[in-house]
Amino acid sequence: MSDTDTRDPTSLRTPIVAVLGHVDHGKTSLLDKIRGSAVIEGEAGAITQHIGATAVPLDIISTIAGDLVDPDDFDLPGLLFIDTPGHHSFTTLRSRGGALADIAILVVDVNDGFQPQTLEALDILRRSETPFIVAANKIDTVPGWNPNEDAPINDTYESQSDRVRERLDESLYEIIGNLSDEGFSADLYWRVQNFQRNVGVVPVSAMTGEGVPDLLTVMMGLSQRYMKEEMEIDVAGPGVGTVLEVKEEKGFGTTIDTVLYDGTIRSDDRIVVGGQNEPIVTDVRALLQPRPLAEIRTESRFEKVDEVSAATGIKVAAPELADAMAGAPVRVVRDRDVDEVIEEVRAELASIAVDTAEEGVVVKADTLGSLEAMADALDDAEVPIVRAEVGDVAPRDVSVASTAEDGKQKAILGFNVDTLEDAHQRAEIEDVEIFTDEVIYQLIEEYEEYVEGIEQAQQDTILDNITRPARFRILPDHTFRQNDPAVVGVEVNSGTIQNNANVVKFAGNEPDRVGQVKGIQEQGEDVDEARAGNRVSVAIDGPTVGRQIEEDDELWIEIPEKHAKILEQELASEIPGDELEALNMYLDKQRSRDPFWGK
Ligand code: GDP
Repeated sequence: MSDTDTRDPTSLRTPIVAVLGHVDHGKTSLLDKIRGSAVIEGEAGAITQHIGATAVPLDIISTIAGDLVDPDDFDLPGLLFIDTPGHHSFTTLRSRGGALADIAILVVDVNDGFQPQTLEALDILRRSETPFIVAANKIDTVPGWNPNEDAPINDTYESQSDRVRERLDESLYEIIGNLSDEGFSADLYWRVQNFQRNVGVVPVSAMTGEGVPDLLTVMMGLSQRYMKEEMEIDVAGPGVGTVLEVKEEKGFGTTIDTVLYDGTIRSDDRIVVGGQNEPIVTDVRALLQPRPLAEIRTESRFEKVDEVSAATGIKVAAPELADAMAGAPVRVVRDRDVDEVIEEVRAELASIAVDTAEEGVVVKADTLGSLEAMADALDDAEVPIVRAEVGDVAPRDVSVASTAEDGKQKAILGFNVDTLEDAHQRAEIEDVEIFTDEVIYQLIEEYEEYVEGIEQAQQDTILDNITRPARFRILPDHTFRQNDPAVVGVEVNSGTIQNNANVVKFAGNEPDRVGQVKGIQEQGEDVDEARAGNRVSVAIDGPTVGRQIEEDDELWIEIPEKHAKILEQELASEIPGDELEALNMYLDKQRSRDPFWGK
């Protein structure tokens, strides 16, 4: 017999399943439904509540799935569902290779279709290369739906009217189309031949349970077919896991809720945990699991266990965990060299570490994984990061942000974190902007809008202080006063005449300053400026009509060379077209004498 044949089947671990999707599309309901069905089918106790996860064993799955699943076709032990749905926990749960979840369910409301967090979840799934299926949820809300509790989709579909089927099909094809727009080739799951190439869409109702048998069947089949090798673990080996959450627990101090994805952890193990500063080396004090419901009245919600093996969720109580981070690795030392294990943890942390620049914004996130996701998204948006850390926005973050030279970078972007009260106060004093959101791309959008606002304001102030180009002509028979100042009627050909600007006249291409605008009147009223097309009277201090200037002369507002440069290089897209035309004609004249003028 070969090795393969003698392998203990328990050496195949349970695939870890995460549920993602837009808010209110039914992630929690779907998990509840699966758990609920599992409890009913298996009577009490068949499903095990882990810390942060629920294990649904194969025999329960096959009971729920009925004819769809023959347990003999499978040798994976079942599915482990992570209890907290959403991409936060998904990104937290990372392992050496990327995502910790082996497979994901993306929940999409059939009525609501693709929404911002659907896209964000897809993006995360794409980046982490996690296989997933789409649960097209809430099919029971299709008008006219005839519900069949817990039925497989084919049975319930058959019992619907043509009209209802058409409506459902339309919604499903829209979802398939949306997936395709995002670069995922998808189809209804029963049409999918190769789940590695195509995303299967499973119509379900978390309310009535319709389609849930199909969903479980597809998940099981997909894991069995494509992930069996990855599920092979050394059951007796030292455990490897990820911190899901760091929690104070009465009587136990700081504990880490951990998802173990390889090996075992024992209550007398020494472990190394990723910390804020350095890897933490500590000894397990207790391994805790939730007490079964029946015993919940006893003194503690938890019961101590001696050993657990992957895949599982477990609460680990140990000293010195205060610095542990959600998303950080946990490794059991056992008979290994502790320094080697520390190195591994350090290397893993480094691989998640975000590249920072000399200048940039401050980024805070709730977990290492989400920090990484934020960094990726900011990289795409070409926003540099000066500092990236897990944790709430604190006063010292404000101090770092306040040192930015570029006002646009005096900003803190907090993803799924709180802002401490004194950080708020500090930010007001230091003029630092704090953005927080629970959707990465909305957070980045908010920041980008802020940056645009600043840039606009900067350009507006520059424009306020810059001489605007103008070309204008003295109208015949419109000399109202000869000199001191000369007052003439003009027509503005292009650009903007502003009060106090200097006026030049070109003799050939040689500019000659003739005076300064000392008042503009339009139909007898004083105005500050005259735009292209306006006919106004202008007082020009300096020249005498008939000598330096004459009726029908073409005159220009003089543009200082520095201003011409800013206008051409930075503000060309900001100023009106006619002003740009005046500028270009002015530059042509100047540059025909001096090709480098204004460059
Ligand atoms: P989550 O934010 O994605 O976890 O969504 P929830 O599970 O909290 O569901 C949001 C709302 O949709 C709740 O009011 C649910 O009762 C409802 N809901 C979820 N799934 C279904 C479904 O399949 N059918 C119907 N009719 N309502 C559903």
